Amino acid sequence: MEHHESSAASRAASMERLVKEVRSAGNCSHPVRLRGELINLATGEIRPSSLRVACKDRRSVHCLSCSALYQADAWIQVAVGLNGGKGVPESVATHPQVFLTLTAPSFGPVHRRTPSGRCQVREYGPCPHGRSLRCRLRHDNNADVLGTPICEECFDYSRAVLWNAQCSKLWNRTVQEMRRRLKVLATKNDTESNHVSLSYLKVAEFQRRGLVHFHVVLRLDGGGDQISPPPPWLSSSMLANIVSTTVPHVHWTGHDGHDVVWGEQFDLADLTSSGEHHRRIASYLAKYATKTTDDSLGLARRFRSRADIEHAQVEPHRMKLALTSWDLAQRPEFAPLRLAHHAHALGYTGQIITKSRHFSVTFASLREVRADFQRSRSDSDPTLAHLHYDGRGYDDPRAPHAAEMFHRMKVELRQEAAARRRQVAAAVEVDQ
Ligand SMILES: [Zn+2]
Ligand SMILES: [Zn+2]
Ligand SMILES: [Zn+2]
Repeated sequence: MEHHESSAASRAASMERLVKEVRSAGNCSHPVRLRGELINLATGEIRPSSLRVACKDRRSVHCLSCSALYQADAWIQVAVGLNGGKGVPESVATHPQVFLTLTAPSFGPVHRRTPSGRCQVREYGPCPHGRSLRCRLRHDNNADVLGTPICEECFDYSRAVLWNAQCSKLWNRTVQEMRRRLKVLATKNDTESNHVSLSYLKVAEFQRRGLVHFHVVLRLDGGGDQISPPPPWLSSSMLANIVSTTVPHVHWTGHDGHDVVWGEQFDLADLTSSGEHHRRIASYLAKYATKTTDDSLGLARRFRSRADIEHAQVEPHRMKLALTSWDLAQRPEFAPLRLAHHAHALGYTGQIITKSRHFSVTFASLREVRADFQRSRSDSDPTLAHLHYDGRGYDDPRAPHAAEMFHRMKVELRQEAAARRRQVAAAVEVDQ
């Protein structure tokens, strides 16, 4: 009996320790362990310390809790760039703004969903490999075959990977050219060219065919170091005109001697002064912020060897793109593209979210504000920490699972509270 009680008590104690540890790391699944000493600045007392801090990984396959925070920050970045707030003037909502989606060219026919529903109805074939390139099927939205080549040999894997590897540079050239055209327009309208500027935030998304798409919010500002309104003669249709005349013409000779260009399809929408629209765009972009190349664990980390790729749990078309990236890396002319390093991203070398300096607040500043807020709520004395890296994760093997569970509970509680608030607001409205 006694033995029974003490083991129950020790189980309870170990559970309590687990909850405390996971909570203190912000429900992170794989926190960073730090060890060293803490100095109490009020009393001068020094004591050894070991603590776990959140991993801050943006990818939801790695850490639910940290990726949720990242997604919230991404949402704020976009929303603030469109509507102002958090130090960005609210007048930005009236600046000319457009939403642009840029695609990659075709590197061979793939299974797809079309407005008519049917996949590929035009007869191109038979292809040089003797296959028909026609597919009359209507594919389901989540059919595995979507995005995969109709003839694998017709799909140009090398050029697809090289396009991914060079599309960030293509974007930089596109922005440069748009800014040049904006300055020309300013001069024509008797405005000094440094009184207009173009800022943006762009999010990369991997399509099913393994090529990168860019979703971009573009905004016109005035000149100077602070965000200011652009001259009144500048309209969103002028911005749309600059974009739509620039995108089809930007090109340069890539590392393989082929021209690097955008796909023929691009989408452009006016965003100026449409609050509801802004909210949707922010949610839409933030959704991509936490994804990996295909949202699986197979492509979530860098590969160390070719065999690593061959053994990864990855769909065959994407595996072939990753292997192509690895193999092209062996050729000296592609050395600057660091293709082995980026094989898990199918050659793509850029960040998922990038923005020009003036568009909005930064991730770092949002984190800083959160840390300040937490410090202001804690009533302990200020401390100075001398800490060094001491590995990753928890000692208790149950902890990562517990972290996910606590995170989900927190989200559910928050949603319930929001639903209750809405109910109360609706009831008040009915009473009146
Ligand atoms: Zn984490
Ligand atoms: Zn098909
Ligand atoms: Zn073929």
